[in-house]
Amino acid sequence: MKRLTHHLLAAAAAGALTVPASAAFAQDDVLNIYSARHYQTDEALYEDFTKETGIQINRIEGKDDALIERLRSEGASSPADVLITVDAGRLWRAEEAGLFQSIESDVLDERIPENLQHPENKWFGFSTRARVIYVNPELVQDPPQTYEDLADPKYDGLVCIRSSSNIYNLSLMASMIEHHGEEAAQKWAEGVVSNFARDPQGGDTDQIRAVASGECGISVGNTYYFVRLLKSDDPADREVAEKVELVWPNQDGRGVHVNVSGAGVVANAPHKAAAVKFLEYLASDSAQGYFANGNNEYPVVDGVLENPELEALGDPKIDPVNVSVYGENQPLAQMVYDRAGWK
Ligand code: FE
Repeated sequence: MKRLTHHLLAAAAAGALTVPASAAFAQDDVLNIYSARHYQTDEALYEDFTKETGIQINRIEGKDDALIERLRSEGASSPADVLITVDAGRLWRAEEAGLFQSIESDVLDERIPENLQHPENKWFGFSTRARVIYVNPELVQDPPQTYEDLADPKYDGLVCIRSSSNIYNLSLMASMIEHHGEEAAQKWAEGVVSNFARDPQGGDTDQIRAVASGECGISVGNTYYFVRLLKSDDPADREVAEKVELVWPNQDGRGVHVNVSGAGVVANAPHKAAAVKFLEYLASDSAQGYFANGNNEYPVVDGVLENPELEALGDPKIDPVNVSVYGENQPLAQMVYDRAGWK
């Protein structure tokens, strides 16, 4: 307060008292977004919001963990209003670092499924991706039907999957711990490790390629990587996808493990009202289409999926667990992986 008075006095002394007032007004028409997303459809997404509301968007794009680090170091003086990132495990990291604030929004509470939002409204999922099993049918005649099956000794030397520190795998382990407890989850991880075809390496797409080439018989990866290959302009990519069979895991049980792309309002957001408005906009039918399609993900709002390649994969049963559990169990998940020797 003291500092503000001081500034105003200084401004008055300089004969510029009208400047802060008009600047404050202009500031309400601005929104600063830190985003780990960068897809073509995002342009239309942001343009539509500005058209609808008159609010100009400034965007800073970066890698997920780097953006969290940046927000952390900027602290209370950060210009950021909204953080968009992927995986509930990462949203949890941001939340743990005190980067988000709880917000009140009937629109979001109504439009976003309960299990895809933070219990205290610190962040919301706006699209989902499933973590599925990929199989080379020439090498594997009776494919694993569950995540648990991946530890079955009959798949010795066949399983390829990325490293345990990868956020998608941390969230998968967090869900295994949630469903089976720590001890059984570790046994499972040990079984999977003993089935490895090679040491963990590369990203999800690399695992799919390795299954197609026959280096591995079985892998695990997110759905959008597969759809990306299916839709690729490069015929070699499409060939990779065609050689691989997708298995929806745990369809006779709890359902497939899903995760979210999500966003929350930053703790010291300078434009909080605009930030809430933007999150509400992300839950609208048109924005849901742009947001999900940009990365071949599923909208969280029903009836707006328009992605023939994704729809053709099927209509799986989904694990209804609240995705915020992935964050809560994350430290334990890494410990369990380490103990199981999953690099
Ligand atoms: Fe990804």
